[in-house]
Amino acid sequence: MKAIIVKPPNAGVQITDVNEKEVDNYGKVKIRTLYNGICGTDREIVNGKLTLSTLPKGKNFLVLGHEAIGVVEEPCCGFSQGELVMPVNRRGCGVCRNCLVGRPDFCETGGFGEAGIHNMDGFMREEWYDDPKYLVRIPKALEDIGILAQPLADIEKSIEEIFEVQKRIPVWTCEDGTLNCRKALIVGTGPIGILFTLLFRTYGLEVWMANRREPTEVEQTVLEETHTNYFNSANGYEKLKDSAGKFDVIIDATGADAGLLTNVLPLLARNGILGLFGFSVSGSASMDFKALQEIVHANKVLIGLVNGQKPHFQQAVIHLASWKTLYPKTAKNLITRTISIENEREVLKVLKEKEHGEIKIRIIW
Ligand SMILES: [Zn+2]
Ligand SMILES: [Zn+2]
Repeated sequence: MKAIIVKPPNAGVQITDVNEKEVDNYGKVKIRTLYNGICGTDREIVNGKLTLSTLPKGKNFLVLGHEAIGVVEEPCCGFSQGELVMPVNRRGCGVCRNCLVGRPDFCETGGFGEAGIHNMDGFMREEWYDDPKYLVRIPKALEDIGILAQPLADIEKSIEEIFEVQKRIPVWTCEDGTLNCRKALIVGTGPIGILFTLLFRTYGLEVWMANRREPTEVEQTVLEETHTNYFNSANGYEKLKDSAGKFDVIIDATGADAGLLTNVLPLLARNGILGLFGFSVSGSASMDFKALQEIVHANKVLIGLVNGQKPHFQQAVIHLASWKTLYPKTAKNLITRTISIENEREVLKVLKEKEHGEIKIRIIW
């Protein structure tokens, strides 16, 4: 069968035929792949930059792909033929209590696997077999943007965690009982920044997006439709503090230099929470004693945010469906390109580098 394979830690990617017996399968439900999404993690693996990417045990290649929608080929285990499903990509270590209750996002041993990333073959292949407990139904009406349920699941988990942490404060809601008076700053306007913006707006927070340039046309559409503010941070963040004040929530969705933390921490309000989602691969953040004192005195939280699990995939499906009504223009712009697997040259090209203006690129099988 045809598959897209990589050989971490080495750079490189190939579309090739693999022996069906040589690839990992995870259960009895036979699934034919319809779409794969491509994200920054895939590109880091392809370019040999993701050090945590490893081969499945005893093998010399890894099937790439952790974002997938497939169609159930034969009725099995509660699924009907023709249903659309999405696999949950991170799977438990089998040992720790969080993994045993379906929450390997909080794995305590670090022995989990991530399909298409480390220890487990992914879903950029013609078909695979899976266990129903790792499958999420995607309604047919959501076939167009459903592939975003995987990245959105990580953001659903992140915001759930932020709200959980903020329950430490006796009152975090506003006078009218909503979160309309709370302000969030999303640094980074890539797909992750946009999904954070849409979800925070759905929950009613005021949102500012920031990037070191003017917004693109697609970003402008998102800003207008969702009533989101924009700040060009090319000259630092001082002006933002003057015009918008401090923020109750700040999200680093950039994966940029770690020094960003030093720049945005002064923008965090009392009782605020700063979430690190982007995966920095360079630089360092420095904090003097005054900054540490400020964290203590003003109850501030720094938190790492990673990986949504099955409940978050299900939430993501609900929110994607709602955005088609709430933010129809934005929803139409979220998939920026769909490329056929037959067009090998273009598939390999987009696996190596990001396209200008890209939000989400899909491969169609
Ligand atoms: Zn991804
Ligand atoms: Zn575990």
